[in-house]
Amino acid sequence: MKRRTILKAGAGLSPLLSLSALAAFPGGQKKSAQVLVIGAGIAGLAAAKQLRDAGIDVIVLEARDRTGGRIHTYANWRGPALDIGASWIHGAGPANPIAKLARKIGARTVTTEYEKAELYNGDGSALNSRDEKKIDSIRKEVNQAIAEQSRRGPDSSLRKLVYAETDYETRSALEQRIIDFTLNSNFEHDYSGSADQLSRLWFDDGSSYTGDEVLFPDGYRVITNALAEDLDIRLRHEVTAIHYGEKEGVSIETTQGVFTASSVIVTLPLGVLKAGNVQFTPALPLQKQAAIGQLGFGVLNKCCLLFPETFWNKNLDWLNHLPRTGHAGEWVEWVSFARPTGKPVLMGFNAAEFGSRIEAWSDEKIIRSAVSTLSTMFGKPIAMPLDAVITRWNSDPFARGSYSFNAVGSTPAQRDDLARNVAGKVFFAGEATEKKYYQTVHGAYQSGLRAAGEILKQKIRR
Ligand SMILES: Cc1cc2nc3c(=O)[nH]c(=O)nc-3n(C[C@H](O)[C@H](O)[C@H](O)COP(=O)(O)OP(=O)(O)OC[C@H]3O[C@@H](n4cnc5c(N)ncnc54)[C@H](O)[C@@H]3O)c2cc1C
Repeated sequence: MKRRTILKAGAGLSPLLSLSALAAFPGGQKKSAQVLVIGAGIAGLAAAKQLRDAGIDVIVLEARDRTGGRIHTYANWRGPALDIGASWIHGAGPANPIAKLARKIGARTVTTEYEKAELYNGDGSALNSRDEKKIDSIRKEVNQAIAEQSRRGPDSSLRKLVYAETDYETRSALEQRIIDFTLNSNFEHDYSGSADQLSRLWFDDGSSYTGDEVLFPDGYRVITNALAEDLDIRLRHEVTAIHYGEKEGVSIETTQGVFTASSVIVTLPLGVLKAGNVQFTPALPLQKQAAIGQLGFGVLNKCCLLFPETFWNKNLDWLNHLPRTGHAGEWVEWVSFARPTGKPVLMGFNAAEFGSRIEAWSDEKIIRSAVSTLSTMFGKPIAMPLDAVITRWNSDPFARGSYSFNAVGSTPAQRDDLARNVAGKVFFAGEATEKKYYQTVHGAYQSGLRAAGEILKQKIRR
């Protein structure tokens, strides 16, 4: 009988008896610890390491067959190591904890610059200096409208605000293309939510570190691998239920049996919490349920193409594309890996509505669409790539999107609701629980340290 079947067979017993009996199920490895951590992404790894270093017995339960979560360095293709989840340390100045970690372990990093960019016209013609001036002035107009008006309520979407403030309906076709391009490239790509869902009041609430934007030529995994060293991590252990109603401790059902502990740190992505596939017993407090429901979780997908040769300017970091009318949000941003890795690799990004829509397409259709866009941008036929790596973060059952955003109707305080522990034994971490640095690796890392700190404080008080 498979362990899962045994679990079902035990369903009629008194919960504590059946769960603790299952926790001792003979299978070799122990199934109880002082603290369980759900998820071996950066938040879970940071929390587990902090607890382990403080002498606490910790087990990390991870559904995937790898650590890192939304940090995923892909090395199984013909190109260089490639980050298909997080790529950059955003603001790698001295205060950024990930930059500190990178320095501590001697990780190689390369700086990319937004200024090393070129804008290509998506209707096949070259942009003349008049068009370029128009693009500059409309981008300024959009940014100014947002800066002046966004904090004035009532809440509505960023698109509604920008369309109203720029008199969108009265503008020429080119001007409308530029407004949509600005909304997509400056906001949807950064925040992952659709401009129809980003809250005009709170979309950019939060903070950032100063410093360069840096990539890891050997992959972001250098950071997660360093944190994961010597931790007790159980891969392929998908958590299906969290029971915390008993007087003592918690019981966690997984696809490989039941685990028990005094407390648990839940680092499940907000998208997974929203999907409701992990059952909490008793149900989570209403305030937390509201935060899970109302905060947004968007998508940013990557399509990495290895070409036979570099057909673009090798000194550029960013190749931007102004889509033609009717194609807003399609293949708007590309990053060149020619400079950081010396290899002819382009990474195309798609966010929000189009990023989500193409997940249903076949790989071949996505590649053809990417190459056809590049052919238009460069005004010549581009050869098919030698290899491609395509992400579908929305369809990934252990992410269900890329990262959180402040949606219309949500408030930043709901991130504190998401972070607050329940019953003094179910603690929460992960990027979405971070009010200041959500969406980022450094935010997720700090949330893990915060949750571990809460448990350590509690232990000192006892
Ligand atoms: C395409 C993309 C690009 C990004 N770019 C950047 C960037 O350049 N810079 C930056 O700072 N940030 C970036 N981010 C965001 C960054 O990756 C995340 O904020 C951060 O990695 C989240 O870490 P976490 O530990 O909170 O969550 P995760 O890394 O998602 O960890 C949660 C873990 O829980 C596991 N899990 C899920 N369900 C279960 C279950 N039922 N049972 C057990 N385990 C489960 C998951 O497999 C995962 O390992 C990007 C994200 C994406 C997707």
